[in-house]
Amino acid sequence: MSQDSKLISCRVCGLIMVKLARDVCPKCFQEEELLFQKVKNFLKANPGATLEEVSKHAACDIDHVEALIRSGRLERAGVKRVAHPCQLCQAIIFDGVVCQECKKTLKEQVKLLKDIPKPPPK
Ligand SMILES: [Zn+2]
Ligand SMILES: [Zn+2]
Repeated sequence: MSQDSKLISCRVCGLIMVKLARDVCPKCFQEEELLFQKVKNFLKANPGATLEEVSKHAACDIDHVEALIRSGRLERAGVKRVAHPCQLCQAIIFDGVVCQECKKTLKEQVKLLKDIPKPPPK
């Protein structure tokens, strides 16, 4: 066996396969592509649709749609307004993964952390 071939399991279905360019098997990749096209077309026709509406239309789990949104692929494809919940407080947002409020809170928390002096090295 070649030293270069690395066995991995498909990210979606767990099938054991040789690692290629992707971390999903060809079957799951095709399904993801199909879902992506479906979701993209639906959102282009229905800007601002909710996650529930999208998942109902595409006949898939909300989780899958959420993962698609989080991957940023839809935004790169020109679909900007996808209503989805903030990762932290569940408020409905259209861009990114957290709402403006949580973004502010996060920034403040990061600042606070940065302000804490590091213990001197021993
Ligand atoms: Zn698979
Ligand atoms: Zn939030």
